[in-house]
Amino acid sequence: MKGLVISSLLLPLALAGVVPRAEEKVDYSGFKVLRVALPESTEDIEAQIEELAAHVLNPGKSAHLDVVVSPENIDAVTALAAESSVVNEDVGAALAEEGEFKAYAVPSESWFTAYHSYADHTLFLRDLQAGFTGQSELVTAGSSVQGRVINGIHIWGSGGKGSKPAVLIHGTVHAREWITTMTTEYFAWQLLTKYSSDATIRALVDKFDYYIMPVVNPDGFVYTQTNDRLWRKNRQTLSSNSCVGRDINRNWPYKWEVPGGASTNPCSETYKGQAAGDAPENRGLVAQVNALRDARGIRLYLDVHSYGQYILWPYGYDCSLRPDNDAKLRSLATSAASAIRAVSGTGYTIGPACSTLYATTGDSTDYTDVPGNATYSYTYELRDTGTYGFSLPANQIQPTVRETWAGVVSMLQGA
Ligand SMILES: [Zn+2]
Repeated sequence: MKGLVISSLLLPLALAGVVPRAEEKVDYSGFKVLRVALPESTEDIEAQIEELAAHVLNPGKSAHLDVVVSPENIDAVTALAAESSVVNEDVGAALAEEGEFKAYAVPSESWFTAYHSYADHTLFLRDLQAGFTGQSELVTAGSSVQGRVINGIHIWGSGGKGSKPAVLIHGTVHAREWITTMTTEYFAWQLLTKYSSDATIRALVDKFDYYIMPVVNPDGFVYTQTNDRLWRKNRQTLSSNSCVGRDINRNWPYKWEVPGGASTNPCSETYKGQAAGDAPENRGLVAQVNALRDARGIRLYLDVHSYGQYILWPYGYDCSLRPDNDAKLRSLATSAASAIRAVSGTGYTIGPACSTLYATTGDSTDYTDVPGNATYSYTYELRDTGTYGFSLPANQIQPTVRETWAGVVSMLQGA
C-alpha cells in the first residue's frame, strides 16, 4: 500500500480565510481546574461561578462542577463554592503533555502515538481509504457553519457495499475531546487493516456496513487548535448576542423543547440553539441518520465523547423512561465494560444516560433511538475521570484507543 507522508505544512490554504485569526490563542499557564460543590439552592451562585470560569468542563452535572479558572479568579470562585478542591494545578502544564503534532506515514499504528492537525486527520482518512478501495469509500454528512465538509469513511465486507445493517459512529462532537478523534480513527484502521489477517475482525466487517465520522464538529476542532484548546461547541454566531456556538449534542430535533437538559443562554457550554436542529452540522447528521435508517436500518450507533469513563444509553431527556430493549442495552454495555477492564483495568460506569450522568435534551442517542430507529444507541465517555480531562497526554492515546476498541468489538459481536 502506498503511504502518504503527510505534513502539517500542507495545512489547507483554502481554509485560511475562514479561521478566525483576530483573537490570540488562549494561554492556560497557571490556570487551575477546580472541583466545586455548590451551596444548596444556588442557581445564582452557579451562574456567577460560570461567569468567572474560563470553561465548565462538565456542564450539566449536578453533584459538582469542574471549572477551569484563571489565577486571578481562583479566590473569587473558591469563596462562592461550598467546598472546592484542586483537580489540576496547572492546565498549561497538562496541555504540554499532549505533545507536539506529528506527521507519519499512514496508515500505521504510530499514527496513534501523537495528536494531529485537522488537515492531517483529513489526509489520514483519505490515505486509509486509498489503501482499501475495494471495500471502502469516503462519505460526507453535510457541512459545518464555516463550510467544512463533515468527512467519514464507509467500510463494508464480503456482502458488498450497502448490503448490511449500519453501524454509525460519530467522534469529536465536542471540539475539545481530542481523544475521540484518535479513537474513532482507530476503529476504521482496525477494521480495514486487520480484515485479511484476523478472523474476528473479518466476521465483524462482513456483518455490518460501517460509517465512521471521526470529526463531526470540524470548525470547533480547528478552533481548539488555533485559538482555544478547551472550546466545546460549534462556531455558529447570533445577531442578537456576541457569544458563539451551539452545542451539537443539544441541538438534535427530538425532545429538543423539553426544559432542563440544555441551556437557552447562548454563552453557556450547552446552548441548545434557537430552534431544533438549527445547527448546520446537525442538519447533515440528521440526514445521514435518516438515510441509513431508510436503507438497511441502523443496528448500532456510537457517539464517542470524553471524559468520565461511562457507557450510556437512552434516554437523556427523561430519567425514568427506558427503551423497550433496556435489558439488552445493559447486557451489551456490561460486556463492553468487562472487555475494557480486561485490557487495561480501566473501570467504566454504565447505565441509562439521564439517571447515570445527567439530563440532556436534543442529544444524539435519543434521536437515533426513536426517530432513527437504531437497535442500539450508546454514548461513550472515554478516559479519564478528570485528572487530565480533555487533554490526555500523548502516552495515553494508544492505551485508550486499544481498550476502547476491545469494548466496541464485544458490542459488535453481541449486536
Ligand atoms: Zn462530549
